[in-house]
Amino acid sequence: MSEEFLVVGGGISGVACARALVDAGCEVVVRDRGHRLGGRMAVKTLDGRPVDVGASYFTASVPVFQRLVQRWVDIELAHPWTDTFHVGEPGGLVGTRTGPMRYATSLGLRSLVEDLARGLPVDQHHDVEAVEPGPSVDGSPYAGVALAMPGPQALDLLAGSLPQERNASGGVWEPCMSLIATYESRVWPEIDGVFVNNSAVLTFIADDGSRRGDRAPVLVAHAHPLLSASHLDDPDAVTGTMLAELEGVLGITAPPISVAVKRWSLAKSVSPHADHYFLGQSGIGLCGDGWHGPSRIESAYLSGRALGRAMASEGPAAA
Ligand SMILES: Cc1cc2nc3c(=O)[nH]c(=O)nc-3n(C[C@H](O)[C@H](O)[C@H](O)COP(=O)(O)OP(=O)(O)OC[C@H]3O[C@@H](n4cnc5c(N)ncnc54)[C@H](O)[C@@H]3O)c2cc1C
Repeated sequence: MSEEFLVVGGGISGVACARALVDAGCEVVVRDRGHRLGGRMAVKTLDGRPVDVGASYFTASVPVFQRLVQRWVDIELAHPWTDTFHVGEPGGLVGTRTGPMRYATSLGLRSLVEDLARGLPVDQHHDVEAVEPGPSVDGSPYAGVALAMPGPQALDLLAGSLPQERNASGGVWEPCMSLIATYESRVWPEIDGVFVNNSAVLTFIADDGSRRGDRAPVLVAHAHPLLSASHLDDPDAVTGTMLAELEGVLGITAPPISVAVKRWSLAKSVSPHADHYFLGQSGIGLCGDGWHGPSRIESAYLSGRALGRAMASEGPAAA
C-alpha cells in the first residue's frame, strides 16, 4: 500500500491541505496542471509588474487564518490595504462603504501560496485525468487523494464508480471576466476599489497601483456574472462595453495604453456546502472555496487545512 498522499490542486486550499498533512508527519505531493502555484490567486506580469487578475484581496476573520496573515505581514509579503471602498454607479462615484480590513500584496496574491508551499514536493504542469477507487490517480495508488479545486473540476476527474464523491462535487459556480486596463498616468480620482451598483456590466473595480503600493496607473475591473456567462467564448465582443463602463464610473476621459481580458469559467461558488470538506471511505477528499463559504480565499484555506488534518488522522485508506 502506498504511504504517499496526493493533493491535486495547487491553489491555496491544496497547499493548505498538503501543509496540514506534512505537519502531521505524512508524505505528500501537490500536483497542479499550471506552471505556477496559486490557482485563482493569479498574477499577470505586465511591463515587469505583477497585476492580480483573479482574486482582488482577502479578509481574515478566523484566528488561525489571522495568525497566518500576521506572519505574512511581519515578513512583508502582505499588508493591510484598506477597509473603505468607494461605491459607484454607471454615471460616477456615489459614496464610500467601510467594512473589514482588506489585505493585499506587493508581489501578487500568488506569492502567498508560494510561501505556504515552501519545502513541499510540488509536481507542476501535470494535468490529472482520472481518480478511481483505491484510491488511484491516473493508474497510480495513493494513501489518500485530496481534490482541491472547484466542484465541477473535481466532478470531471471522478470515476462513475465513486457515487458519493461525485454527489459531493459539482455545484453551481459563476464565471467572471477580469478587464485589465493600463494608462499613461493616474487619470481617475483617489480610490482603492469601487463596488459598482446598478450595473449589468461591472461589479467591482480595483486600483492595482493602490493595492500594490506603487501607484502604477493600472485598473482591474470584474464583469457582472451574467455578462461573463454570455460572453466567455467571445470576450472581445464586450471589451469595449466593459471599458466604457469603467470610464463612466471613474470619469476617465483619457484612452488606455493597453486593455486585456482574463476569463474565469469557475470564479466563485454560488451555493457553497455547509461542511468544511468531504472525506469518503474511499480515501478521496474534496476541499476548496466551494466548502463552508462564502467563496473566498480564507474559506479555501480553512477548508484545505481541515481536510488535510482529517486525512492525516484517518491515515491511509484501506484499499
Ligand atoms: C475574478 C475573481 C475574483 C475573486 N475575488 C476574490 C476576492 O476579492 N477575495 C477573495 O477572498 N476571494 C476572491 N476570489 C476567490 C478566490 O480566488 C478563491 O476563493 C480561492 O483562490 C480558491 O482557492 P482554491 O485553492 O480552492 O482553488 P483554485 O485557486 O481554483 O485552485 C485549484 C487548482 O487546481 C488545479 N487543477 C484543477 N484541475 C486540475 C487537474 N485536472 N489536474 C491538475 N490540477 C488541476 C488548478 O490549476 C488550480 O491551480 C476571486 C476569484 C476570482 C476568479
